[in-house]
Amino acid sequence: MIRTRFAPSPTGRLHLGHAFAAWFARDAALRAGGEFLLRIEDLDQTRSRIEYEEGIFEDLKWLGFEWTGPVIRQSKRSDAHREALAKLIASGLVYPCFCTRKEILAEIAAAGGAPHGPNGPIYPGTCRLITRDDAKARMSAGEDHALRLNVEEATREVGAMRWEDVEAGLIVADPKCFGDIVLARKDAPAAYHLAVTVDDADAGVTLVTRGNDLFLATDVQILLQKLLELPQPIYHHHKLMLGPDGRRLAKRDQSETIKALREEGVSPEEVLNRCRI
Ligand code: GLU
Repeated sequence: MIRTRFAPSPTGRLHLGHAFAAWFARDAALRAGGEFLLRIEDLDQTRSRIEYEEGIFEDLKWLGFEWTGPVIRQSKRSDAHREALAKLIASGLVYPCFCTRKEILAEIAAAGGAPHGPNGPIYPGTCRLITRDDAKARMSAGEDHALRLNVEEATREVGAMRWEDVEAGLIVADPKCFGDIVLARKDAPAAYHLAVTVDDADAGVTLVTRGNDLFLATDVQILLQKLLELPQPIYHHHKLMLGPDGRRLAKRDQSETIKALREEGVSPEEVLNRCRI
């Protein structure tokens, strides 16, 4: 059975781009007689707000989008995230990183720059060189740290990886473009890639639909799936909606929110017409 999901972060009101993403996921499920799930990605507790979460429910209901089963909240899934993290740690492919953001930038500047990944300069791997004993001592002393995946070694271990995108076809994964990703931080047992991978698998999502901006992220998530022995969904990355200025819609563009359109008297049908691309 096809099961899709819409996974917004409650860090602002939904805009037309979100309406399109939700419609796309729901439509793919309905056409196949499948299920459409709603997952609230509220791991970033400093930016997530309950009123935005309520806004998501309000907007989706107004658009006429119903989802199957209870809403999944990422912040309530810490046990599953911790379990997956423990499995990765046991594989020996995870290391603690004690670098602050400032230190990473200074290190990159001193080296005359660093290769850029989709999210900016790639972590230069400073803490990968710390011996296990030193790392243990620093962790026991309570030094603040994140946990990173040694992506190159993990990729070597897993071997060739492929995944399927409904539009782009068969893709050969190259997870190295993000460098050694952060798996977890002190204040969060799972960062984005790990949480999404584990949550999609636990919810039985078989078709991940999302914007093209996350196309490259899939390579890393496939690597995590392999390491955690999770089933691999099919993907359908879709185009992003652009504003009149040609830039992708962002939560800062207040006028584009579904709430604002509703208050202007625009109907749900018209909103959906405007967001088909
Ligand atoms: N929460 C992510 C977003 O709003 C989507 C997560 C995903 O599809 O992997 O872009």
